[in-house]
Amino acid sequence: MRSGLFRNSFIYLLIIAAVSALVLSMMNTRPPAEELDISTLAEQINKGEVEQVTIKNSGDLLIEYKSGRPEETSRKEPDVSLFDTLTNLGVAPDKLADVNVLVEAISPWDDWIALGITLLPLLIIGGLLFFMVRQAQGSNSQAMSFGKSKAKMFTGDKPTVTFEDVAGAEEAKEELNEVVEFLREPEKFISLGARIPKGVLMVGPPGCGKTLMAKAVSGEAGVPFFSISGSEFVEMFVGVGASRVRDLFEQAKRNSPCIIFIDEIDAVGRHRGAGLGGSHDEREQTLNQILVEMDGFDTDTNVIMIAATNRPDILDPALLRPGRFDRRVIIDNPDWVGRRAILDVHMRGKPISANVDRDALAKRTIGFVGADLENMVNEAAILAARHNKKEIAQAELEDAIEKVQLGPERRSRIVPDDEKEVVAYHEAGHALVGKMMKDSDPVQKVTIVPRGMAGGVTWFLPEDDRQMVDEAYLKARLAVALGGRVAEEVVFGEITTGASSDLQTVTGIARSMVTQYGMSEDLGPVTYGEKEELVFLGRELGEQRNYSDETAQEIDNEVRRLVEDAYVLTTKIITDYRDKLDEIAHRLLDEETLDAKGFAAIFGGASA
Ligand code: ADP
Ligand code: MG
Ligand code: ZN
Repeated sequence: MRSGLFRNSFIYLLIIAAVSALVLSMMNTRPPAEELDISTLAEQINKGEVEQVTIKNSGDLLIEYKSGRPEETSRKEPDVSLFDTLTNLGVAPDKLADVNVLVEAISPWDDWIALGITLLPLLIIGGLLFFMVRQAQGSNSQAMSFGKSKAKMFTGDKPTVTFEDVAGAEEAKEELNEVVEFLREPEKFISLGARIPKGVLMVGPPGCGKTLMAKAVSGEAGVPFFSISGSEFVEMFVGVGASRVRDLFEQAKRNSPCIIFIDEIDAVGRHRGAGLGGSHDEREQTLNQILVEMDGFDTDTNVIMIAATNRPDILDPALLRPGRFDRRVIIDNPDWVGRRAILDVHMRGKPISANVDRDALAKRTIGFVGADLENMVNEAAILAARHNKKEIAQAELEDAIEKVQLGPERRSRIVPDDEKEVVAYHEAGHALVGKMMKDSDPVQKVTIVPRGMAGGVTWFLPEDDRQMVDEAYLKARLAVALGGRVAEEVVFGEITTGASSDLQTVTGIARSMVTQYGMSEDLGPVTYGEKEELVFLGRELGEQRNYSDETAQEIDNEVRRLVEDAYVLTTKIITDYRDKLDEIAHRLLDEETLDAKGFAAIFGGASA
């Protein structure tokens, strides 16, 4: 025990420090600073003397003067915005507009310091304990990470990114162009009485460029960009979130035209009343304040809200009502053409060897999102530097793919080739059956670019908002849903777990045909069971059984019969048109995504 003596004296030292800090903090009675009365501040603003007011998190105000005379402090009235207070005190709007108002976000530094002084003894004792525990554990614990300071002012940034920096996502850009045009020349739209979207919700998986796109909108339009992240609100002290929202909107209105961007809105915008236990008052108040502010916008406010989320399903429906975030822009995982374009963006300005095969890199990185690709190019540059090279070559880029794939920052997963083939046949199966069943909705798009848990997706275009569905249509949907599984079985002789959610769909359809729509000959036109549904959630809570065990048995038999019939039919289609199945699968392996036109081309160009 070499350090035994040292450690003991260290502990005594800490104890002495703790005691003296305690004494010090008891003596620490700060003399109250001379505070400026808020009405004096109002007068000074009216006289045009004030240069800048900083609203501290604690409600303290720091006032700086044009003449360079010493700063003064004052206090904001709680729960009322400073603007309202000053306006009520008779400050002229143009004088107010003259003052540079800064709002300090998150970090209530002053509070922390005051708190720190009071808590110093405790902190030292805590540190002592921490120190001892660490010794006991063999000091392999991670450094304790205290909440990072996030001092941030709401001074709208002026992003320099433009649409050119966001590769792929052409459809999203087209939709957002309208917003850009409006922000550039609001008068043009307003004079024609056009209704401009107030809120745009950007939806897409993490790392695919939602934040980047929002900045690009503001960069394109050349307007200020006010941003805050939903997760920041959640960390705030009670009551701070709502007033922060108020201040953010005040600032934005004063700087219009501009953009307010709320990143990760799901953190505050979760369905109210949802979530497990605990009080969500803070979150709800923040959300309510956002709604109130959005409704309070006049048509000529010229402020556009953009919010981003990867969980649109859990958002409070109130957020999605007309006049709020009623526009949706989808930013999806890129297919290989998109990935190729993203690689180009991030390779721009870097010394890339001339014989780098960008197409091949794009094709190999199925499953990567923009953030992964950026990361990959960066890793390749680091590798090249470590190899003392002047250029980044194919070898480094390929190594970088692996590095990103294994790395901690990975946002998505590369699909291995054999899995890709299974997914391609699976989706080809859905699409082929959809094409061959004349009662099915037409195929809109097929893709093997993975999203979330799903390996690939086949979309169908419902014909003119079907309200009524008939038996033939439901039978076609059964066959289509089975198509993926049957194709896997026919081609590979085995079925992967990827087909399991399809089976849920199949069973669901068949059960409703029997129990809800009365489409079974044996059971007749009767509905069985009463569903308790939360309509707005689209979720079933449970089913009340109002039938006997025998009937239950009969229902099961009927369901099974429907599914088996569909299975036979699907297998026949897949085996009869095996050549088409192969062709679709190969085209998917090649191109990853087939749109309606590309898909129809496989069947001789006849439209789907
Ligand atoms: P999200 O907000 O959707 O999680 P980000 O916008 O934060 O994603 O993207 C992270 C980074 O990944 C961006 O800063 C950018 O460098 C890169 N990136 C993502 N998507 C693209 C894209 N479409 N084009 C170019 N770069 C992209
Ligand atoms: Mg983001
Ligand atoms: Zn499927």
